[in-house]
Amino acid sequence: MADILSVENLTKTFKSGNRELTVLDNVSFDIEEGSTATIVGPSGSGKTTLLGLCAGLDVATSGTVSLNGIKLNALDEDDRAFTRNQYIGFVFQNFQLLPTLTALENVTVPLELRGEKGYREKAIDLLTRVGLGDRTDHYPSQLSGGEQQRVAIARAFITDPKILFADEPTGNLDEETAAQVEALLFDLNKQQGTTLVMVTHNLELASKTERILKIKGGKLVDDQKSVVA
Ligand code: ADP
Repeated sequence: MADILSVENLTKTFKSGNRELTVLDNVSFDIEEGSTATIVGPSGSGKTTLLGLCAGLDVATSGTVSLNGIKLNALDEDDRAFTRNQYIGFVFQNFQLLPTLTALENVTVPLELRGEKGYREKAIDLLTRVGLGDRTDHYPSQLSGGEQQRVAIARAFITDPKILFADEPTGNLDEETAAQVEALLFDLNKQQGTTLVMVTHNLELASKTERILKIKGGKLVDDQKSVVA
């Protein structure tokens, strides 16, 4: 399989006052299409920053991120947003659902951003697949954390992304709910071939992925490949 994501010499520096903080330092790796990977490392090591750069939510100070052959850094903000909507799904630790929209309306948002209509059936189908067919008209405040995360996953998958980025997708969930959400993500990877790149503190989750990238002090210090059953 070809690489869907190529990260080359990625460096990110934040300025605060007249001080500069290098959060990512010359990070390079490739991710094969259809594979699963986790990014692990201590708090503050740059994992979330790296995921955001890979997903085009922010741009690097230097280096490149190529997604499906498209260099994200070379795009202006509108084109990056367009590319995100075409190829990428993103799941946040704290779900980030819109509180004034129902579960169904939250799931259809990415397709409305495309200017397309008539995706009610696809959204209902996805909500049913994540086990929430009877919760489509509930608002986020009426759903448990695990249910909200499943809505967020349905929203991330409604565009049939080639790659899903997830930042601590199970971090705010109890053990049992985390296991359900984890199983759902791996099922979607298997059924749809969606590449999965997740940031996690959970080493058990990491051990289930084919690739473990370890970040420490902004540097890639380990890159393990394993065969996962
Ligand atoms: P991790 O996900 O590994 O916990 P982060 O990527 O969130 O690490 O953060 C890495 C470092 O970058 C931290 O020291 C954090 O304070 C700093 N940082 C992250 N975002 C910003 C920002 N927008 N401005 C300044 N510093 C930031």
